[in-house]
Amino acid sequence: MSEIYDAVILGGGPAGLAAGLYAGRSRLKTLLIERGAEGGQIALSAEIENYPGQMLEGESGVSLSARMAEQCARFGVERRTDSIETVELEGEVKRLTGGGGEYLARCLILATGASPRPIGCENEKEFTGRGVSYCATCDGAFFRGLDVYVAGGGDSAVEEAIFLTRFARQVTVIHRRDTLRAARSIQEKAFAEPNIHFLWDSVVERVDGGDVLDAITVRNVKTGERTVLRAPEEDGMLGLFGFVGYLPNTELFQGQLPLEKGYIRTDEDMRTAIPGVFAAGDVRVKSLRQVITAAADGAIAAVQAERFLLGL
Ligand code: NAP
Repeated sequence: MSEIYDAVILGGGPAGLAAGLYAGRSRLKTLLIERGAEGGQIALSAEIENYPGQMLEGESGVSLSARMAEQCARFGVERRTDSIETVELEGEVKRLTGGGGEYLARCLILATGASPRPIGCENEKEFTGRGVSYCATCDGAFFRGLDVYVAGGGDSAVEEAIFLTRFARQVTVIHRRDTLRAARSIQEKAFAEPNIHFLWDSVVERVDGGDVLDAITVRNVKTGERTVLRAPEEDGMLGLFGFVGYLPNTELFQGQLPLEKGYIRTDEDMRTAIPGVFAAGDVRVKSLRQVITAAADGAIAAVQAERFLLGL
């Protein structure tokens, strides 16, 4: 029979890693399971500048989360790479099953985060990885010297548009309204950047090309007018980055936990409706999804898990 952990943490973003740090410090026998690399969504961020005390020049999501992971490991948290396929949340012992086997725990901390929402245009899937991307840090360099478009108007879209100016000839933000949702400080930076342009009141309707993306059809939502943005002939391709929000990674918990618009409902101590099951970070219903709030959730969840195990 598999050993029973005090706590299993599902997800290795800031919420999961903070939960690991606190659980490890409390000497709980803890396992963190992550299907990919640590970092979750911040691994897609080129620069993190609003985590308190973090002022290292050019700190990326990857470097920050690597240090978080190292801190977890120092406190004895075990780490497994696996993709969990089923969860059984009820009962005293929770059971997770993945490609790599079965994991048992007295407490579960669900920190599965969220994934990029598709732009929702025609042919999007077909051109993903061939001009359409959701990660400027990963793919920006492929578009050196080319025209790049960004769909969205929130913090991610505008921050990543700024980052993409390092590579692209010019970056155009396509936003469905005429004002940005992004924080004022981020907007100011973008408006001051000569290589960033804005296409207001517009949505991406379809993408086209041969082997690679070379045309984007946008529609003005006010006038209905359609425009085809083509790659200059000498370039042969262009880039489209989608940053139109995120969808929670909660398919595994459907039917077992109450969800609100797909997000897990918790109380302020990160308790879900099932005793011994906690949720932390972007996966739960909350008003501010940031590294700092994810980390705080993780800490609270781990402390509450310890109290639960002590029968408090
Ligand atoms: P977001 O804040 O939800 O913004 C999504 C953007 O995409 C909005 O501008 C929205 O337009 C647009 N959009 C949504 N659906 C669309 C569609 N179907 N077609 C076209 N446009 C669409 O998402 P986010 O920017 O990824 O940020 C997610 C969370 O992470 C936020 O809480 C954000 O503050 C946080 N974040 C923070 C930082 C930071 O603090 N540095 C960096 C990145 C992200 P409307 O504006 O018209 O709704």
